[in-house]
Amino acid sequence: MDTHTSSANPVTLLGLGDMGTALARAWLAAGHPLTVWNRTPAKTAPLAAEGARVAATLAEAVAAATGPVVLCLLDDASVGETLDGADLSGKDLVNLTTSTPAQARARARWAEERGARFLDGGIMAVPPMIGHPESGGYVFYSGDRPLHERHRATLEVPAGARYVGEDAGHAALYDIALLSAMTGMFGGVTHAFALVRPEKDLDQAAFATSLAEWLGAMAGIAHGIAAQLESGDLTKGVTSNLAMMTTGNRTLLATARDQSVDSRLLGPFMELMRHRVEQGHGDEGLAGLTGLLRTDGAG
Ligand code: NDP
Repeated sequence: MDTHTSSANPVTLLGLGDMGTALARAWLAAGHPLTVWNRTPAKTAPLAAEGARVAATLAEAVAAATGPVVLCLLDDASVGETLDGADLSGKDLVNLTTSTPAQARARARWAEERGARFLDGGIMAVPPMIGHPESGGYVFYSGDRPLHERHRATLEVPAGARYVGEDAGHAALYDIALLSAMTGMFGGVTHAFALVRPEKDLDQAAFATSLAEWLGAMAGIAHGIAAQLESGDLTKGVTSNLAMMTTGNRTLLATARDQSVDSRLLGPFMELMRHRVEQGHGDEGLAGLTGLLRTDGAG
């Protein structure tokens, strides 16, 4: 197929690592004319064979762009290095490179100073999910709203698009907050398997099924916490209060001891719960713990 005769929105993609290559294939498969550039030119060859146009230089790639210029590089520093000195005036930059919210906001200002529009994205998918909407992968976007609306259909080709506001830092904040919650969950799963691992006659696969189901059932607690924080009533709808949970924690810790498992992953969180109960808030759920974690005193 000659993608260059297509009427689909042309895309310029900078960065052909694992994720960038997956994005490239999704746009090519959907018939979008695609121009690619990568620091190490060898990575462009397979995509050229699949119909991508290869820009000889970064400046050439950006200068020829009439659609979104998508960046999928290692980190924010590599974005700065790559675009340093390029003429970005009038360009639509879509940065899918993982960055901190502060880096995304600074990059938005940086782009604006160079006459470019800027949308930041946080990818909630791994490369095999890209181009497969049924996998549930998606990208958080924030920043220039008109830019997002103009290119929404194109951006939705590799993965679903969730626009979360005009603050360029919010896509990264959603991304990192979800990954942080996932990290806590990974810690819990690790502790759980450490508890059951040495047991003879305990079916690890059957245990895994119960564990995954239980975590799914408990995930809805996020909605309860949001409702409590928004209403300001941290006891609203609480069915498992901190006083009860801190008592239960003693059983969890005693079992860890009995099973010869170090409780270092659970300990700090349980300590936070105990502290909140000691402050006289045993009737709350988990929402009040968020305030204890803030280092700036914000409630
Ligand atoms: P890779 O390590 O596979 O690729 C990194 C890319 O960045 C390559 O194209 C590399 O070029 C380029 N690069 C690195 N440093 C520089 C630099 N200084 N100047 C120019 N180019 C540079 O990473 P991925 O493709 O997997 O990830 C890309 C982004 O996507 C990251 O921000 C990552 O966090 C994010 N992401 C990745 C996911 C994944 O599962 N892979 C999941 C969600 C987000 P070269 O080929 O020359 O080395």
